[in-house]
Amino acid sequence: MIRIENCDMSEHTSFRCGGRAAIYLEPETLEELKEAVEAANRESRAFIFMGNGSNMLFAEEGYDGWVISLRGLKDLVLMADSGAEEDQGYGYIGADAGCSLSAIAKLALANRLAGFEFASGIPGSLGGAVLMNAGAYGGEMKDVLVSVRTMDIFGRIRDWKAEELELSYRHSCFMDDRTQIIISAVIRLPRGDRADIEAKMKDLAERRREKQPLQYPSAGSFFKRPEGHFAGKLIEDAGLKGLQIGGAQVSDLHAGFIINKDRATATDVIELMHVVQETVLDRFGVRLEPEVQIIRLPEKEEN
Ligand SMILES: Cc1cc2nc3c(=O)[nH]c(=O)nc-3n(C[C@H](O)[C@H](O)[C@H](O)COP(=O)(O)OP(=O)(O)OC[C@H]3O[C@@H](n4cnc5c(N)ncnc54)[C@H](O)[C@@H]3O)c2cc1C
Repeated sequence: MIRIENCDMSEHTSFRCGGRAAIYLEPETLEELKEAVEAANRESRAFIFMGNGSNMLFAEEGYDGWVISLRGLKDLVLMADSGAEEDQGYGYIGADAGCSLSAIAKLALANRLAGFEFASGIPGSLGGAVLMNAGAYGGEMKDVLVSVRTMDIFGRIRDWKAEELELSYRHSCFMDDRTQIIISAVIRLPRGDRADIEAKMKDLAERRREKQPLQYPSAGSFFKRPEGHFAGKLIEDAGLKGLQIGGAQVSDLHAGFIINKDRATATDVIELMHVVQETVLDRFGVRLEPEVQIIRLPEKEEN
């Protein structure tokens, strides 16, 4: 198991900035995951879980606890046909929480399974995507998830049906109950045409390249979509495109993105976030909430 003390979390998050964690662990098996959680409990240390770190920002002061990444758990299988009548025309993929969404999309394409194209360009792991109910271009995890397996912080395994997860826009029940670690999930996809699936993935990748500042580190869209609005449009209409604090900037390509333009600190990003929130509230009366999970000293995540 990878174990790094006083770990620089900028190296493990897509924002490429942020403070240090007391200990960073990357278990490769469920036994190692259980050991890690038991050890943190024994030592009465705070701990949090992560996947690919593509929606997390560690505040500059760091996290005085253990960060346990599920990246090392990445078995991925196409499941055998059940033969059941209701499953005709569908295929199932089972994947560990650490599998990247792009790897799952590749397996779906290779087996002519449609409906996962929306996730092919999201740079997260399955665990992070389930927790956040990640989505794009009209699709979301809610559309494809069948079940999820978790381990709780005492090592107990539980299976959940997708209907139990309270999936809604960028939300699952696991966001309110951080005692559950997502360890694997099953998705169900309709059979499709390989060329169509591939064309859709290419089209979405092209749209991302055109519209998103992918050459800079970021965590994607920084804010959740407020009811009845688009965060990027409000930010642009407030004249904030290109606004820079320290090395952090409101992207001038896509105002919904805060980017690490030039050696930003997490404090630059958070200050910029506050300026954007205050300006948009003043101008339009709309409160923008970060989608990015901001990790502060133990137990505090800013939403
Ligand atoms: C360029 C770019 C584009 C993006 N585009 C999109 C997009 O189109 N749509 C979208 O929805 N998102 C997008 N994102 C954001 C991000 O990729 C997704 O939210 C993704 O699902 C996060 O997965 P992750 O593994 O990186 O999670 P992390 O960032 O590691 O974690 C996110 C949250 O999930 C928790 N978590 C992670 N894994 C587990 C687990 N196994 N068990 C319990 N809790 C866990 C963490 O504690 C944290 O609270 C984008 C990000 C970038 C950088």
